[in-house]
Amino acid sequence: MIQDIGPHRFDLTYGQPEAQDEDFMLYMKSNQTLLKKTEDGNYEIPRFGDFPNEKARLKMKAYYLFSIDNMKYYYVKEMIQGEENGYEFCKTTVFRTMTPLYQAFAGITATQIHRWKESRQFCGRCGHPTEDSKKERALVCPHCGQVEYPKISPAIIVGITNGDKIVMSRYRVSSNPYRGYALIAGFVEIGESFEDTVRREVMEEVGLKVKNIRYYKSQPWAFSDTEMIGFFAELDGDDTIKLEEDELSEAGWYTREEIPDETIMNSIGSELKMVFKYGSLENFYAATGLKPAE
Ligand SMILES: [Zn+2]
Repeated sequence: MIQDIGPHRFDLTYGQPEAQDEDFMLYMKSNQTLLKKTEDGNYEIPRFGDFPNEKARLKMKAYYLFSIDNMKYYYVKEMIQGEENGYEFCKTTVFRTMTPLYQAFAGITATQIHRWKESRQFCGRCGHPTEDSKKERALVCPHCGQVEYPKISPAIIVGITNGDKIVMSRYRVSSNPYRGYALIAGFVEIGESFEDTVRREVMEEVGLKVKNIRYYKSQPWAFSDTEMIGFFAELDGDDTIKLEEDELSEAGWYTREEIPDETIMNSIGSELKMVFKYGSLENFYAATGLKPAE
């Protein structure tokens, strides 16, 4: 999965260390990130030192995000130089395929901070401009004291199984851009445990009852400011699917053989499907010859 960057170590310890030339800087405009295009068609996160004319000003105003090993990453709000000399504004989806994986993870995680800071420039309670907290990753209102933490919405994703079969669905184009077969997923609502959300979403989207809800793993999914909480659950009773047609265009029971093999294993949805199909991740990698992303 996209956060599995070992042996590299992601360190979120909060602070505002002074930026240096060799530190990475992430500059974003609406939903695009400024990246350096390499000769082989890949992308790289630029460093302050790449912009000699502007680096002093950029470093002074930079917001420290996190570290990976000894590399530091900063968020930059304003920049004069843009799309020139091999730099390109790239859509967030670039991070789904960018290598090495730890840089993709750094980039996508930074976009979540960007969206949060952009959408919380003013206090939601009193309308006063917010400021960076000095002691934690938060925005504070100097007028009324309101504190805003980064937006992280919990959502469940569940592999519903019945013996050798699992439920997969396709989203309507208008509802979600993802075109492949997906598992049932949905946001946690107020007053719900994760298990309650699993039962409600499964009933709403495909009209099935489930039992033996078992936690699998969780995943930070910055593409949608979400924390995905993955489960398996077994069918309880009638297997007739009643489709929620506003969101889904189709859904059905598929045998292990019918589940298409994944080619990119960066999401928990892919992992749940492949673990069901092959019994374990190790079996999946052995059977397909794929290697975990690096
Ligand atoms: Zn306020």
